[in-house]
Amino acid sequence: MAWDFSTEPEFQQQLDWVEEFCRSEVEPLDLVFPGAAYSRNPKAKALADPLKQQVKDRGMWALFLDKELGGPGFGQLKLALLNEILGRYRSAPVVFGTAAPDTGNMEMLAAYGTAEQKSRWLRPLLNQEIFSAYSMTEPQGGSDPSLFKTHAIRDGDEWVINGEKWFTSAGAFADIIFVMCVNGMFVVPRDSPGVEIAEYPALHNHIRYNNVRVPVDHLLGPEDGAKVLAQRRLGGGRIHHAMRTVAQVKLAFDMMCERALSRESHGKVIAEHQMVQEAIADSYAEINMLRLLVLWTAWTIDNTSTKQARTQIAACKYTCAKVLREVSYRALHIMGSLGTTDLTPLQAMWASAPTMAIADGVDEVHKVTVSRNVLRSYEPHPGLWPTEYLPAKREEARKKYADVIAADPDLAAWADAAASGRVGRR
Ligand SMILES: Cc1cc2nc3c(=O)[nH]c(=O)nc-3n(C[C@H](O)[C@H](O)[C@H](O)COP(=O)(O)OP(=O)(O)OC[C@H]3O[C@@H](n4cnc5c(N)ncnc54)[C@H](O)[C@@H]3O)c2cc1C
Repeated sequence: MAWDFSTEPEFQQQLDWVEEFCRSEVEPLDLVFPGAAYSRNPKAKALADPLKQQVKDRGMWALFLDKELGGPGFGQLKLALLNEILGRYRSAPVVFGTAAPDTGNMEMLAAYGTAEQKSRWLRPLLNQEIFSAYSMTEPQGGSDPSLFKTHAIRDGDEWVINGEKWFTSAGAFADIIFVMCVNGMFVVPRDSPGVEIAEYPALHNHIRYNNVRVPVDHLLGPEDGAKVLAQRRLGGGRIHHAMRTVAQVKLAFDMMCERALSRESHGKVIAEHQMVQEAIADSYAEINMLRLLVLWTAWTIDNTSTKQARTQIAACKYTCAKVLREVSYRALHIMGSLGTTDLTPLQAMWASAPTMAIADGVDEVHKVTVSRNVLRSYEPHPGLWPTEYLPAKREEARKKYADVIAADPDLAAWADAAASGRVGRR
């Protein structure tokens, strides 16, 4: 029997270590020196780097990369179990070498880069000696590739890139930017002449590429292959977001339950009010539904491919946004006035739910993908009635018993009466 919901003991030991390490090392760093894990400040680095080294020594660094791509080959299922812990702590993904947007960019490089491109960019990215960003969305076209305008023109030994991108996360801090052009995916050093970064938005940058020249070997993958590379990148990214969301909603749930038991209002502990119990019961079920969907999807990727798990990944994407919205709202509500402040993680968590429904493609687009793919395995019914129309099914089934019915008129009459509901269990 292969349906097994347990974690192998050796990996569980690793997860226990991760949980303790995050609680005792990563969270205090986050609370006292927020952002130290991804800072270039030498003093901040000196605090964060030893933690990263501990993760490496423990063999838990950059678990997202499969063996054939140069990683440890733990697979997505183990990564999902790891992310269920990391997603709770702000800088844990960086401390474990599994933070977006670098992970998706590294996946593209590992899968499509030449040996030279990998040694130039993949190794330093893996070691966090450099950081990257991903420039796809355009101000006029959103994330719909059919509306993109950014393009590259070959000029001798160089490509000349022109266009405008928007919402390039951490673009202003990146060393290299993966720029999706209509005719290919290019790696652009951020300090190239012609890369102009607007003042707003501060974190998700608006970037103009004005006659930016890069050498020919900065084209990643085949010419005109940008859409395939983007799918590869975004498929992984979406499931990783969903894995970390499981961690977030579990945190909200823990807070909700603790508070429900701790506070009294209107004559009883609030956990005894039925509507609070409903909030806890609904959240419990929704979190576990999301978690199992994510784990099943990760398992499917491990056993087939990201491409074949596309429908499941899309379902994870909009389901995680929905569960995050519902559970964080209930937790915030049960926390009362304190929940509305920034003195607990709940307000920020709830405010992040709409972002989760937009980043990496709006929910509607993923719902269309799921519906379209699911409908491929169905066909319209041939006649007037649906396949499950009972009178027609019964007529067909009677053919199987034609001899019995013909031989025994009493039994035939009883069958007709029973089918029409006129007799009970007689
Ligand atoms: C926090 C964050 C980080 C991001 N980081 C990056 C990044 O690093 N690099 C990058 O390139 N991009 C990034 N993005 C951009 C992101 O990919 C896009 O915002 C997203 O794909 C949606 O595009 P849009 O914002 O143009 O919305 P639009 O496509 O304009 O959608 C707006 C609304 O229109 C409706 N709509 C759109 N399409 C459909 C449809 N098919 N069916 C029904 N209704 C529809 C929906 O109501 C939708 O919410 C980031 C976004 C966020 C929020």
